[in-house]
Amino acid sequence: MTLRLNSVLDAIGNTPLIRLNRASEETGCEIYGKAEFLNPGQSVKDRAGLFIIRDAEEKGLLAPGGLIVEGTAGNTGIGLSLVAKALGYQTVIVIPKTQSEEKKDALRLMGAELIEVPAVPYKNPNNYVKLSGRLADQLAKTHPAGAIWANQFDNTANRDGHVVTTAEEIWHQSGGDIDGFICAVGTGGTLAGTAMGLKRHSGRIKIGIADPMGAALYSYYTSGALKSEGSSITEGIGQGRITANLEGFEPDFAYQIPDEEALKIVFALVEEEGLCLGGSSGINIAGAIRMAKDLGPGHTIVTILCDYGNRYQSKMFNPAFLKEKGLPIPGWIGRKPEFDV
Ligand code: PMP
Repeated sequence: MTLRLNSVLDAIGNTPLIRLNRASEETGCEIYGKAEFLNPGQSVKDRAGLFIIRDAEEKGLLAPGGLIVEGTAGNTGIGLSLVAKALGYQTVIVIPKTQSEEKKDALRLMGAELIEVPAVPYKNPNNYVKLSGRLADQLAKTHPAGAIWANQFDNTANRDGHVVTTAEEIWHQSGGDIDGFICAVGTGGTLAGTAMGLKRHSGRIKIGIADPMGAALYSYYTSGALKSEGSSITEGIGQGRITANLEGFEPDFAYQIPDEEALKIVFALVEEEGLCLGGSSGINIAGAIRMAKDLGPGHTIVTILCDYGNRYQSKMFNPAFLKEKGLPIPGWIGRKPEFDV
């Protein structure tokens, strides 16, 4: 491991694989999580931020001081903003109001300009992604240093980043001893890119998608129709269309994971393994467990630990929020203190 880096950009990626002990023991498989919360922006999306900005630079689209505009559930904005600061650009982030305050605070800390907008479906012209595209067009014409739209959903520089980093790292870290890879989809960059990179090494590696309720990809990959039902409190995942990053992608296994199943895993990981993760990691691990059961004992499966739990302290780790959503509250949250002085 390199301990001396030239900039924070070199700290993006090369995250460790962590064995998920209970999940492995329950299934008789080896289940590993790639610890993406250890990236400098504390999420898997630092990789997309770096690759999208580097790609725009290579294409000559960014001038010094230029603006990078993006619509994001938060983590991509954090990744883009830290990379932008390191390279001399600015970010303007359009974010749905419903996203956690912790992510908005992290964006403000990274010096991003935040525009909070109502959360409306993608087909609505005022959806945050579409608003960010229109704003980028306008700023490209009026801002003295110009502007680009990062466009993480349909910019395949996002997926390419995972082909050349995430997949390569997983292949080498597992010594080629890997039978399956599974994760959820926001843009699809992580799943499609990592799958593509791993399949280049070995066509026998099985790929799974773990879809939250309210997303349409489980139905798409099992019946061909983009249909959704239910909803999820998880953030950053849950796609209703085939993004450019997902084009040509075909999973071998597809699972639909209710929040209760994912949260149980997240809460047990805190209590039993000292690992405090965000909700999408819970969906991913639940998917890895289901895939392990389908593949049978003795297989090695890797998934993604997308971000850290502190990003959701006011939501999925808050008893009032859980109660309001009718979700189970783990015993250790809000437990009366046992000791005093
Ligand atoms: N989990 C979290 C917490 C995220 O922020 C994101 C990105 N939106 C994802 C998972 C999904 O990653 P991708 O966009 O690569 O599909």
